[in-house]
Amino acid sequence: MHRYRTHYSTEIKPEDDGKEVRVAGWVQDIRNLGSIAFLILRDRKGTLQVTLFKKEHPFFEKVVSLPRESVVSIMGKCKANEKVRNGYEIIPEEIEILSTSEKPLPLGVVDKVGVEFDTRLDNRFIDLRKPEVQAIFKIRDVVIDTAREFLREEGFIEVHTPKIVASCSEGGTNLFEIKYFDRKAFLSQSPQLYKQMLMATGLDRVFEIAWYFRAEEHNTRRHLNESTAIDVEMAFISNEEDVMHILELLVQNIWKRVKECEEELSLLGKDIKIPNIPFPRMKYTDLVEMLKERGMEVTWGDDFGSREEREIGKIMEEKGNEMYFITEYPLDCKPFYTMPKDDNLSRSFDLGCKGMEIASGSQRIHDVNLLMERLKANGLNPKDFEDYLKAFRYGMPPHGGFGLGIERLLMALLDLANIRECILFPRDRTRLHP
Ligand code: ATP
Ligand code: MG
Repeated sequence: MHRYRTHYSTEIKPEDDGKEVRVAGWVQDIRNLGSIAFLILRDRKGTLQVTLFKKEHPFFEKVVSLPRESVVSIMGKCKANEKVRNGYEIIPEEIEILSTSEKPLPLGVVDKVGVEFDTRLDNRFIDLRKPEVQAIFKIRDVVIDTAREFLREEGFIEVHTPKIVASCSEGGTNLFEIKYFDRKAFLSQSPQLYKQMLMATGLDRVFEIAWYFRAEEHNTRRHLNESTAIDVEMAFISNEEDVMHILELLVQNIWKRVKECEEELSLLGKDIKIPNIPFPRMKYTDLVEMLKERGMEVTWGDDFGSREEREIGKIMEEKGNEMYFITEYPLDCKPFYTMPKDDNLSRSFDLGCKGMEIASGSQRIHDVNLLMERLKANGLNPKDFEDYLKAFRYGMPPHGGFGLGIERLLMALLDLANIRECILFPRDRTRLHP
């Protein structure tokens, strides 16, 4: 028979009146009025109407009895028709049934009845047939594409570092342990140590877009156990400001490109506000004071929790800012490789968006003696970090970088309430399927 894919629904226009077209997709709905039936065919670009006449079409009965979500390929004539939503309909000449769906569907594609999020995730392949769910992943693709393009233009090269590692990057305990032949190994929670080691090679500017695994026990709306991130590391910086500038440009570029995704944004009912550069820089210490003034109990030296982060989001929103940097955290709040600054502060920053952290970064320590001192101060044994420390002994330039969570970014960008919306098949404390 004919080739399956030739036209998408949106490619057919009333000007095609009288022309023969071929379309293929899912049977979203069939309305059978007896002598005439309307089949709504859905493909990745939208829907179109196929009109069948009992008298004219020998395959009428076979088609109208098809279960919803079956897959068909149709060859027919396009006919302009003002009464049809998109201004045209297809009068079929041939219909090939490519796959018959079982009944009942575990999840409706167009039903307006609310379903549990877990039901959606349990049947993710059907959930993903919904245009508004697909829109999130089309935008995700644009986000990643923009990041690659922007970073390459800024002189960064894309690298890939190991995801099976012998020890942890930050001394945390939230690592997944795996069996590596007769040894113990772990799944990587961050490319931190490797991307820093690359700064000793002369590659100078690198980025990595990859998976990370964190065995965090908590089950929250903004944590996954398997997530993706855009990681950046750059050498010969003057201080953390150089890194923050790349990050704010990157984020602004992403927001600009996504604003052009009009179709997807309208499906999600979302308007994008492009943040101005420079993003405001708020010092940790000043924010502690502001939070106290607003009646919150915060102790200088403690990392901000989600409650504090939300309140900071409100403070910044009142000033008209959705996007902001929190800078100069106490040194003890940040990992051992963070460059210290006077008064127990650090050359670190978090990027916040509407009350949620989406990225963390800093200038790093490049002096091996200071690095060993900081390892010990964090209760870590420099011996366990010899591979890493070695890269600092034979010429290591000043450097810094950041990690930007892709799902967090999407969540903030599209105002989604749950991070699981931003990943195809989420892994969390309880979910390992599908
Ligand atoms: P949080 O304090 O919000 O738990 P973190 O400070 O532990 O995050 P980092 O180690 O700074 O996270 O990781 C860099 C970025 O990776 C974060 O800013 C965030 O965007 C993302 N990220 C971290 N942990 C997770 C997670 N469990 N699930 C999804 N994204 C995450
Ligand atoms: Mg962080």
